[in-house]
Amino acid sequence: MHNLLELDRDGLTRILEQWGQPSFRARQILTWVYQRHVTDFADMTDLPLDLRERLVAEMKTGSLSLAHERRSRDGTLKRVYRLDDGQLIETVLMHYRDRRRSACISTQAGCALGWIFCATGEMGFVRHLSAAEIVEQALLLAQELTGRGERLSNVVLMGMGEPFHNYDESLKAVRRLMDDLGIGARHITISTVGLVPQIRRFADEGLQVRLAVSLHAATNADRSALLPVNRRWPLRELMAACRDYVRKTGRRITFEWALIRGETDTMEQAHALGKLLQGLLCHVNAIPLNPTADYAGSPSSSDEVERFLSILADYGVRATVRVRRGIDIDAGCGQLRAAVQAKEADSDAL
Ligand code: SAH
Repeated sequence: MHNLLELDRDGLTRILEQWGQPSFRARQILTWVYQRHVTDFADMTDLPLDLRERLVAEMKTGSLSLAHERRSRDGTLKRVYRLDDGQLIETVLMHYRDRRRSACISTQAGCALGWIFCATGEMGFVRHLSAAEIVEQALLLAQELTGRGERLSNVVLMGMGEPFHNYDESLKAVRRLMDDLGIGARHITISTVGLVPQIRRFADEGLQVRLAVSLHAATNADRSALLPVNRRWPLRELMAACRDYVRKTGRRITFEWALIRGETDTMEQAHALGKLLQGLLCHVNAIPLNPTADYAGSPSSSDEVERFLSILADYGVRATVRVRRGIDIDAGCGQLRAAVQAKEADSDAL
């Protein structure tokens, strides 16, 4: 069985040629899938019936199957997909008032580098996703939106896993999101824990894609306590790579900062962060911690958030608070996958 999402136009054309079909059929099929988001060959009405039947029998349009879905009161849609080897991954669709529709997609099953407060990190690393598996998550959300007369405008590689640990497939997926799905480069964001060699490599790709770096602490001791890989790539090297990225690309970096009460929201941390980022073309995206089962920390109160932001403002560092979405549906950071896994383990035991 061929998987259409693993084929580029040439690959698809070759198969169709072997089937005795003219080459323009490839373009027709790709238009159905990537522009109209129709994934059932039987519905591709401008193809001859015998070709549709052969496609249904010998080709599939992806390998993900929906294992679980939840909708939040704020409109957030969260899905858990099962990969063909049984692994579970998460995908989230977020709605914003300005009509932006943003897909948050996964690049790995599990994660090797995990933040101690991250539910995905707790499960450890399982495997990399292929570019096809990464793209399919966005395609299925685009399909959901098309069904409602809306369109997918943004994609963030900020779900389960570390995109730069799976660099080649993640970048291949990003190019296909742009070329095949038509998402503008400036509307795509890659979020990394801060792998220095890959940040440098990414700066040379010549892409307009946005870069987000998860910082969460402004001293090495604090950051290493949250993220062991900080010992391998300490703050000095990370910040040097970030500064070089900004210099080389002229693009601003987003720094992500989870606000954990009494840990990352203190005045000392705010001053240290202000000093670290002063003068750099960047933006801080602060997000109150999403509580997880295995980490005892709690989110900052709104007063603590305000104090933190006003100290950053004194350093001229721009910062906003990210609204936590889908908090009622375990939408953050590997939480729903953990819940589905636990439920399946329970029912297996019965
Ligand atoms: N591995 C990449 C992308 C996946 S995580 C990275 O580390 O950036 C996406 C973002 O969610 C990161 O900034 C991560 O630190 C943050 N995150 C993970 N768990 C969280 C939690 N419990 N509360 C708030 N943010 C969390």
